Amino acid sequence: MAPSRTLRCCKRALNWIPVLFINLVVGWSYYAYVVELCVFSYLVIFHIFFFMFIWSYWKTICTRPAEPSKVFALPRAEKDQFEKEEQAEMQQEILKKVARNLPVDTRTAGGVIRYCDLCQVIKPDRCHHCSTCEMCVLKMDHHCPWVNNCVGFSNYKFFVLFLAYASLYCGVICATVVQYFIKFWSKHLPNTHAKFHILFLFFVAALFFISILSLFSYHFWLVGKNRTTIEAFRAPVFVKGPDKNGFSLGFKRNVAEVFGDEAKHFIFPIFSSLGDGHSFATRLVHIDPEQANGVLHSIVTSSTTKQQSEILRVKSECSLNHSMNHYTGNDHRSHNTCN
Ligand SMILES: [Zn+2]
Ligand SMILES: [Zn+2]
Repeated sequence: MAPSRTLRCCKRALNWIPVLFINLVVGWSYYAYVVELCVFSYLVIFHIFFFMFIWSYWKTICTRPAEPSKVFALPRAEKDQFEKEEQAEMQQEILKKVARNLPVDTRTAGGVIRYCDLCQVIKPDRCHHCSTCEMCVLKMDHHCPWVNNCVGFSNYKFFVLFLAYASLYCGVICATVVQYFIKFWSKHLPNTHAKFHILFLFFVAALFFISILSLFSYHFWLVGKNRTTIEAFRAPVFVKGPDKNGFSLGFKRNVAEVFGDEAKHFIFPIFSSLGDGHSFATRLVHIDPEQANGVLHSIVTSSTTKQQSEILRVKSECSLNHSMNHYTGNDHRSHNTCN
């Protein structure tokens, strides 16, 4: 085996250490609560949150990040031309020509088409290259070492639910163990080895509860704003310029983008996010009139489901509203109608 390949395998194996650590802590907390403490009256609620937590946690780990479809790769002729071309301006012209037929509204900070040299694709809006996963990930949020996976379009709902249920799991443990914890300090607890499990169980659960709840609150805020962690640090750049609220469609719609339209799907780690991860409704889309036909054509041809059609309808309405308002000098109204 080549040394670089061995190194890669070692790195991959090491990446599982945080996941192993979490599972060991969860396994021990289950043993301490159910076997050592064993309070019958709380076991039902404990098991409900335990099951939902483990389910959403493993769904986050096992769901493969979604990558851009082949439509975003350069066609053969353009790819050859792109590789031969040495001038960045000419390469950009080739990308512009291809992007004309794609629903791409965001640009680099320098205002050019976003292209991944490693994956050789035009990056769809909100897509970023993850150096750990070595691929472009649709609506990438961040690479999470605790799940050893990229959190993005395909598993963001699972990740938020994992944080919610992990907080509830730790919260239930804290709330029900605190009475034994107080007894421990007032020396009213029988002197068995179980009392040390109770002591540590409360400390560990309280520590995780505080840290996970703050992370969950942050992600819930991001969901409400329709922003990814990456976008919270660096606003997406549209043709007209950066706009940190560019993808925000109002709180209710923003939540639906991640959790779906139907309330019955909200609490389960089952995929129900809207859209296909390649194009997103925006409140401020300024498209080049030259590109408008291509974009709208791709919108019509690529929408296959009712949900996708709905998103793309909003997007085209916003685009048209904005384009019209742009010419009539009434950009402010466009903000309000599409917000
Ligand atoms: Zn890439
Ligand atoms: Zn990754």
